Amino acid sequence: MKKVKVKLHFPRKWISKPLMSEVISRYGIVFNILHADISYDSEGTLIAEITGEDEAVTDSLTYIDSVGVKYKLYNKSIILREDECIHCGACTAVCPSEALTMDKDNKLHFDKEKCLVCELCIKACPLRIISTEF
Ligand code: SF4
Ligand code: SF4
Repeated sequence: MKKVKVKLHFPRKWISKPLMSEVISRYGIVFNILHADISYDSEGTLIAEITGEDEAVTDSLTYIDSVGVKYKLYNKSIILREDECIHCGACTAVCPSEALTMDKDNKLHFDKEKCLVCELCIKACPLRIISTEF
């Protein structure tokens, strides 16, 4: 099995068409949308996790590219030095996907699965304890 995080750029002509439904049924992949910025009659972007057999994931991306939807694979991830965190919450204010949230005890909680690697939290942290790794 393979899991990749990917950013898809949909040109206007694909916005109103069920491309991802077709890809899911054709290749048997699981397509988990993490963030979407798409409006009717305009271009759009989608950040998603694609999970499936190695060949199915590769073939689905090849197909997506072949129809004109460009994609970029995320090869970085966010590293948080949690032992140094003072739970100020500044990073949660800028996180667009709720990967960073405060729990009921006002402690920072980081859900890596939800992270879009947008890197907004890196600049927001006053202690500079958030970074990226390849
Ligand atoms: S990079 Fe930081 S701000 Fe962006 S989604 Fe991930 S945790 Fe949230
Ligand atoms: S901004 Fe930095 S110190 Fe504040 S909660 Fe986030 S990681 Fe912790």
